[in-house]
Amino acid sequence: MSYVESIMDLVVRRNPAEPEFHQAVKEVLDSIAPAIARHPEYEKNRILERLTEPERVIMFRVPWTDDKNQIQVNRGFRIEFNSAIGPYKGGLRFHPTVYLGILKFLAFEQIFKNSLTTLPMGGGKGGSDFDPKGKSDMEVMRFCQSFMTELCKYIGPDTDVPAGDIGVGGREIGYLFGQYKRIRNEFTGVLTGKGLNWGGSLIRPEATGYGAVYFAQNMLGARDMDIRGKICTVSGSGNVAQYTVEKLNQLGAKVVTLSDSNGTIFDPAGVDDEKLAFVMDLKNVRRGRISEYANKYPGVKFLAGERPWGIKCDCAFPSATQNEINGADAATLVKNGCILVSEGANMPTDPDGVKVFLDNKILYGPGKAANAGGVAVSGLEMAQNSQHVCWPREEVDRRLHQIMESIHRQAYETAEDYGFPGNYVVGANIAGFTKVADAMLDQGLV
Ligand code: NDP
Repeated sequence: MSYVESIMDLVVRRNPAEPEFHQAVKEVLDSIAPAIARHPEYEKNRILERLTEPERVIMFRVPWTDDKNQIQVNRGFRIEFNSAIGPYKGGLRFHPTVYLGILKFLAFEQIFKNSLTTLPMGGGKGGSDFDPKGKSDMEVMRFCQSFMTELCKYIGPDTDVPAGDIGVGGREIGYLFGQYKRIRNEFTGVLTGKGLNWGGSLIRPEATGYGAVYFAQNMLGARDMDIRGKICTVSGSGNVAQYTVEKLNQLGAKVVTLSDSNGTIFDPAGVDDEKLAFVMDLKNVRRGRISEYANKYPGVKFLAGERPWGIKCDCAFPSATQNEINGADAATLVKNGCILVSEGANMPTDPDGVKVFLDNKILYGPGKAANAGGVAVSGLEMAQNSQHVCWPREEVDRRLHQIMESIHRQAYETAEDYGFPGNYVVGANIAGFTKVADAMLDQGLV
């Protein structure tokens, strides 16, 4: 058994019943094997044993009262996975499917993603099995206050800086920040994704979606193609999906789908800016279902219970959740002429699907490269907070552009260097990994 295989074996034995964590580790280990072979010092120093074991896992009870005065109890988590290159950094997810294995997969991915951004950030992730859907603002506030009452003991602007993720947007970050400030009596950049009047960065809400489109532009550019005029499918209709659509519209592409957990809308005329404004109000203010889009606009089909991958497109932007594209979906996309997939979501394509994309040599940008724009601008928010300054929109967007270009270049060149030209999975994983592994070597056995 090779070193890499023995580590995979260890991870499965030591973390039973966490299939998403196994999947994320396997994907990384499979693709970094050439770097392990080139650098025997990694095995000698047991880098993979250390890298696959979180530095710290925090689990806690979150009691709160609902609007009927009934007591509810949820479970809270924070995984502080790796701090070799900076304070732990990664989002909070509030969704009923959250458990330890999901957050460990997300925190593990975050280590390499943050490394690729070129900014000094370690990897972390957290959240709760709390479901914000159908809850009143006051219920969400009471939950967030209880969650932060415990979490505030473990985080800080130089220790661990959470952000948003599924189910955690501007509203939740506001409640969480307010409670942190109240308990700790300090106004610091302990969370990112803050409101603009109280420490947030311009372009942070847009960053993940914009970044996924910039990454797509870079991949297309490497083959002398352009995004203009391309038919695009987008899944999800939350933060990442909305700003993916906004940027694609600005660049002259046409988006024909959006979705949520109930189904997909197919709009052959395209989700133009006016329709996007409707979606933003529907999802961010009224908190309704995407099916309402089909009731409002003529010529739109609602495909109940379906995902968008059966709709013909040139480019696909999965922006909802993990494992939303399986092998059959990937084969359908390729058969229908899809030439590019840029992952706004984390691990949206399962291993069979990834294989289909790589075998067919389409432009495939894995999440940890393609969606790194979100955490990159979070890093820029931290930089602004610690200098007590606020950069203009153009400045943040310029830096986001540069960072996405640099991530593309690192992934592209590393893949070539290791003999896998055009394979952004190998390129992103090795480039992200070696920086963290070398920092761990420099810092001794900690
Ligand atoms: P939001 O909560 O704003 O939106 C999530 C969207 O995905 C909603 O439309 C939701 O539909 C849908 N969705 C969530 N879970 C499921 C599911 N199990 N099945 C089908 N649809 C689902 O989250 P974000 O837009 O912030 O996050 C989307 C993805 O992007 C996630 O994978 C996240 O980890 C990733 N990401 C986010 C970043 C950010 O900055 N926000 C940064 C990097 C990655 P419904 O409302 O019906 O649940």
